[in-house]
Amino acid sequence: MKYDPLRNHVGGALVDADLPTLDVYDPSHGTVISRVPLSGAREVDAAVQCARAAFPAWSALPIKERVQVFFRYKALLERDVDTLAALVSEENGKIESEARAEILKAAELCEFACSLPQIATGELLEVSRGVECRVERFSLGVVASIAPFNFPNMVPHWTIPNAIALGNCMILKPSELVPLSANRTAELLLEAGLPAGVFQVVHGGRDAVEAICDHPDIAAVSFVGSTATAKVVYRRATSNLKRCLALGGAKNHLIVMPDADREMAASNIVASMSGCAGQRCMAASVMVAVRDVDPVIARMVEVARAMVPGRDIGPVISAAALERIVRYVDEAEAAGATVLVDGRGVKVPGKEGGYFIGPTIIDHVTPDMRIAREEVFGPVLAIVRATSLDEAIAVENASPYGNAASVYTESGAVARRVFERASTGMVGVNVGVPVPREPFSFGGWYESRFGVGDITGKGSIEFWTQSKKLTTKWNRAAGVNWMS
Ligand code: NAD
Repeated sequence: MKYDPLRNHVGGALVDADLPTLDVYDPSHGTVISRVPLSGAREVDAAVQCARAAFPAWSALPIKERVQVFFRYKALLERDVDTLAALVSEENGKIESEARAEILKAAELCEFACSLPQIATGELLEVSRGVECRVERFSLGVVASIAPFNFPNMVPHWTIPNAIALGNCMILKPSELVPLSANRTAELLLEAGLPAGVFQVVHGGRDAVEAICDHPDIAAVSFVGSTATAKVVYRRATSNLKRCLALGGAKNHLIVMPDADREMAASNIVASMSGCAGQRCMAASVMVAVRDVDPVIARMVEVARAMVPGRDIGPVISAAALERIVRYVDEAEAAGATVLVDGRGVKVPGKEGGYFIGPTIIDHVTPDMRIAREEVFGPVLAIVRATSLDEAIAVENASPYGNAASVYTESGAVARRVFERASTGMVGVNVGVPVPREPFSFGGWYESRFGVGDITGKGSIEFWTQSKKLTTKWNRAAGVNWMS
């Protein structure tokens, strides 16, 4: 095994515990590289007690002092970008450029946290003569962040910098499939000067998550993962009277109009469906082709066929994921869809044990097929044909998910209609992965997000703080003798 069995990182140190473990795989080779402990209620409680002890001193620091940690931490991410990216590649399978981009995005998220003293300010107004109302933001206490496998480094950074800069102490429960990056995050935060106990990593799966949702001293839970788990976590955390923001899965539609720029649309759509092996909640999943866009599709086929698995596209996370994705393609083909580019059965020389599937494009998919309705989470694009823009929008609207939708067109009127009518929280115009960059917030609608607010940017300030309102009345005549 390349790495020692992992331990939880609590109170500023690795802690030993006699726990059952799970093997951690390198998806590029299908080999075991470490083991992750499966924590339960006892381990979660130990982390909570450390966080509670650290909270009074940390939250009492002025925010301008707290963010100094993230100025230093951002520099450490940039210093270590190569090794951090290599770790992400190893545990998740991402190709190097994608893993690097993930670390640099984590650094950008710290940049936003560093600006919080300028943004997360209070409010003050003289509401009547001598009476002023003032609102200030206070931290919540101990909070938790539960993460998925697809961005081992970046998604935890959606929550860590903002929650901690706003004065909270955090427990991170990373995905048990990709647990290595989280411990490195804990070490670098300590190196940046974060006091021990402000951030802890508790490893595990379902038991650890349930213990987080149940713990009376955890005030807020943020979750990112599949819709099925998001529902479980949201229900359990809120039934225990916690605030909860739970981001779920996605089924993103890209509408391509006949006036789309052929080259831009083709390369953009293939990059969206195949980047990170399609394991992005913002990945293109269904392309709705309006009337004749065959030249765009022909170019997409060329671009996708030119991609080399192992060099331009990494593996998916596990053997089970690969099997599931292939099943979706097999089923669609059996139901009459046309596989234009077939990534099934690829082997990468030197990585024969890896879980690879090349970019796969399937035409003439009908909206009732499973591949058009369910989240596939692999490098697979289903093309559904439509005869009008409104029919295309109706196909998109039928999805219960609401993360992202995009349109490829040169018409402002068409773009505006899609923006107004798409049933998603994020919309792209000629952009395949329409992730809003900070200070704008990331967040979908409907089955892609449970709870109120967004997870990043300005929208996250409300989630990680509570407001206190002060009403003050001054007797304007008091002290008048000394004034002049
Ligand atoms: P997942 O739901 O399987 O796991 C997410 C987390 O929940 C992990 O930490 C896991 O340990 C825990 N978990 C799993 N099953 C659980 C259960 N029954 N009870 C309690 N906890 C449980 O998700 P995943 O496979 O790791 O991640 C992929 C999913 O995440 C996709 O659906 C993707 O769309 C979604 N995702 C969404 C966003 C977004 O912004 N909406 C971002 C990234 C990923």
